[in-house]
Amino acid sequence: MPHMKRLFAAGLAAAATVFGATTWAQAADQEVNLYSYRQPFLIKPLLDAFTKETGIKVNVVFAKKGMLEKIKAAGDNSPADAVLTVDIGRLYALKEGGVLQAVKSDTLEKNIPAHFRDPEGMWFGLTSRARVALVSKERVKPGELTSYEDLADPKFKGRICVRSGKNAYNVALIASMIAHHGEEGAEKWLQGVKANLARKPQGNDRAQAKAVFEGVCDIAISNNYYMGKMMTNDEKPEQKKWAAAVRLTYLNQGDRGNHMNVSGAAVTKSAKHKDAAVKLIEFLSDDAAQKIYAEDNQEYPVKPGVPYSKLVQSWGEFKGDTLSLEKIAKLRPAASRLVDKVGFDDGPGS
Ligand code: FE
Repeated sequence: MPHMKRLFAAGLAAAATVFGATTWAQAADQEVNLYSYRQPFLIKPLLDAFTKETGIKVNVVFAKKGMLEKIKAAGDNSPADAVLTVDIGRLYALKEGGVLQAVKSDTLEKNIPAHFRDPEGMWFGLTSRARVALVSKERVKPGELTSYEDLADPKFKGRICVRSGKNAYNVALIASMIAHHGEEGAEKWLQGVKANLARKPQGNDRAQAKAVFEGVCDIAISNNYYMGKMMTNDEKPEQKKWAAAVRLTYLNQGDRGNHMNVSGAAVTKSAKHKDAAVKLIEFLSDDAAQKIYAEDNQEYPVKPGVPYSKLVQSWGEFKGDTLSLEKIAKLRPAASRLVDKVGFDDGPGS
């Protein structure tokens, strides 16, 4: 069948050249141009499945940085129809940068919970990730750390490792603390966490788990999927030891739930293949793609009812905070200012 569809697509393109302008739009919609911050290993299988099902070809450019700048600079001539990226910070920057257009889709509204998408339809979360604690199996008892608020408790003095407060993942977490406790409450909390740090914030999320393994600290803050990547890292097997030293702990399970972020997609304002772009995002939000996403990167499907990967299931069920990411996005500048104000990145004792 997919083969038939491809033949159909080719036929349509040929027909367009014969019958002229009116069919060009249709022919053009047999492809979509995608900018992706997400890595090829993750995205390729999804795009191949999409092409197989719809006959729509996806031309993808994998970008490392500067997506917003590139799209802005090209203006109406930008070839990108859709973008795939991680973190609410980046999605919101695209929206604020004025390079996106609103999409109205019943499928997307049905598949993606409201707190994981833009109220105006400018961006859509496709996978979610939890910012969790990775605690020492030896030095932190189950139940000793249960909430983000606990991280500021003096009993954890000198025991916490985390990357820079300016990192997008941490900025979103701090923004969620502002949403829940107000700016003053969040500032006091951040001061408390800073006082409990074992060292100056440094490195990436995995480096924090490594520090727990090495005995530098007892608690690391990390996105959940890095735990999965460490557990299964055959190329760098030392990471399996880091993972084995820690227990993944979801926070605030007794109240609002663990802070969540997303990877997501959006359609550009200058899209020449809008319909195909929307179809692609719809496809990515549906069961088959959600399952591949979840399994390949140990993230959570956003669509309710799609199972977690086996590995993620091994960490148990959990409750995620349903605070709207749009709200978090709006509080990011305030969160960033707090990081500077308390001198978080200067480390403890400064
Ligand atoms: Fe990441």
